[in-house]
Amino acid sequence: MYKVNRRTFVLGGLGAMVAVPRRNAYPFTLGIASGEPASDSVVLWTRLAPDPLAADGHGGMPAADVPVEWQVSPTGSFAKIVSSGTATARHDDAHTVHVIAGGLAPDREYHYRFRSQGRLSPTGRTRTAPRPGAAARDLVMLFASCANFEAGYFTAYRRMAEERPGLILHLGDYIYEGQAKPGHVRVHLGPEILTLADYRRRYGQYKVDPDLQAAHAAAPWIVVPDDHDVEDDYAGNHRLDDIPPLTAAQWTARRAAAYRAYYEHLPLRPRSQPSGTSMRLYRRLEWGRLATFHMLDTRQFRDPQACGGHYRVCPDADRPGRSMTGKAQEDWLLDGLAQHRATWDIIGQQVFFAGQLDSRGTGNMDAWDGYRAARDRLQRGWVERGVRNPVVLTGDIHTAWANDLKLDYADPRSRTIGAELVCTSITSRGDGSPSTAIPTASVNPHLKFYSDRRGYTRATVTPEQITADFRGVDAVSVRNAPIRTLGSFAIADGRPGVQRP
Ligand code: FE
Ligand code: CA
Repeated sequence: MYKVNRRTFVLGGLGAMVAVPRRNAYPFTLGIASGEPASDSVVLWTRLAPDPLAADGHGGMPAADVPVEWQVSPTGSFAKIVSSGTATARHDDAHTVHVIAGGLAPDREYHYRFRSQGRLSPTGRTRTAPRPGAAARDLVMLFASCANFEAGYFTAYRRMAEERPGLILHLGDYIYEGQAKPGHVRVHLGPEILTLADYRRRYGQYKVDPDLQAAHAAAPWIVVPDDHDVEDDYAGNHRLDDIPPLTAAQWTARRAAAYRAYYEHLPLRPRSQPSGTSMRLYRRLEWGRLATFHMLDTRQFRDPQACGGHYRVCPDADRPGRSMTGKAQEDWLLDGLAQHRATWDIIGQQVFFAGQLDSRGTGNMDAWDGYRAARDRLQRGWVERGVRNPVVLTGDIHTAWANDLKLDYADPRSRTIGAELVCTSITSRGDGSPSTAIPTASVNPHLKFYSDRRGYTRATVTPEQITADFRGVDAVSVRNAPIRTLGSFAIADGRPGVQRP
């Protein structure tokens, strides 16, 4: 926290400030964030919440809209301000703000901060993307998913911040919706979340975590939600279970609340602002000539899971009409892949993409194995379009993997047509084990790496190759555990699949 004094006031160029008595409680308890980097702008985020766990979801703020000033500088001293303004933290939005800081130079590091009610926020570091089509420097990009607050400490987020990456991708399960389960390392507040107030308070509980705040302050994020950001294993309008029982109208209201709270609490562009249960999350971001990020939404438009759930298999999984993305998103993705705008076409999405059957022939029906025709259309689509370097990034499964993608997963001799990197979870599944023996390896020779530690994946992206380092913390049941690299793989330009470096 920064003390506001006259010197900061003047040097910071925040002269238009209204004086507010010092007795005001500190409003930036949930930190700050940035995201969606373009070559000339970035989204800045914060929320005012002096009492972040307030049961009404309003963070202890009065029922009034409040001005929030913001500044962007090339340096952490804020000696020179290159972009600034005043946003309104609206009561209706739980006093969250999404600022588009524009007028920035491409491929540059920046620092940002907010000020409201006489208080300064912490300072964040962010950066812009290189210009579309421009040559780009190497990019260190980290990706992560699945941070169940109850399953452990967010040490992996802290270690991500310490890497000072250029970019962070979050692939879903930023929060978990479950009720408090005593006996865990940490405990959720209250019952399973259903209402907008519940979701807002849950985000409050997560975002007070200093390790999570550090990861946001370190780099811009590109985020997509998965199921737990709403409810476990939901599929569009369909709930896989009926716990707790909800009428159709209650379920609709819950989805709308979850989407709204997700938008409110993450640094998304206004184009992603939800309207009821409709939210535009699939989108493309360009990182010069180096990489195009195609971010997918595999929850909102999917057909219900085949065979009624997990780890089974039935003919329905192969039914050609079934979709994971919906037709519009599928067309949009294939159109984007056909544009060949960068060396790497990185598909950021939620669920396990490679085929993975166990020895009994069953598979994960919540993952792409339950939507095989859709996966086949996508894979054949990128092969037909001559996509040189498709790389799928995945979360959800709470273990780390490196996979070759195959034209036909039933035939080990079939062509390798891409690579998949699966990050482990930040905490979900707990401490795990040091084992790296690949489950189902005997029937899935295209799966090349496995880890049951918690952490994230570091991808160093250059024009020649992507180096993926699978990073794991020794434990999440204790604070501040060390991190180590558990395995490394390379994906070479023009050569599909993952290799030991
Ligand atoms: Fe998860
Ligand atoms: Ca999930």
